[in-house]
Amino acid sequence: MSSTLDPQAPPVLVVGEQVSFARLHGRACWDCGAVSRLLTAVGRIRLKGSARVWEIRTCGCRTKTASAG
Ligand SMILES: [Zn+2]
Repeated sequence: MSSTLDPQAPPVLVVGEQVSFARLHGRACWDCGAVSRLLTAVGRIRLKGSARVWEIRTCGCRTKTASAG
């Protein structure tokens, strides 16, 4: 495996807890689990102990992050 990091790729959040399949697959909001709302990709996560990277989405329920703009 290469240890070279792609500078353009966003950091991957490593999650150590159990995550529902729907959230993992981006079919449900990562934060609240809503499935009937419009979901937007917000980042990528990886389960601890696994190399598989998943793209997660939220419905926008969470308060905006520090980078306003
Ligand atoms: Zn939500």
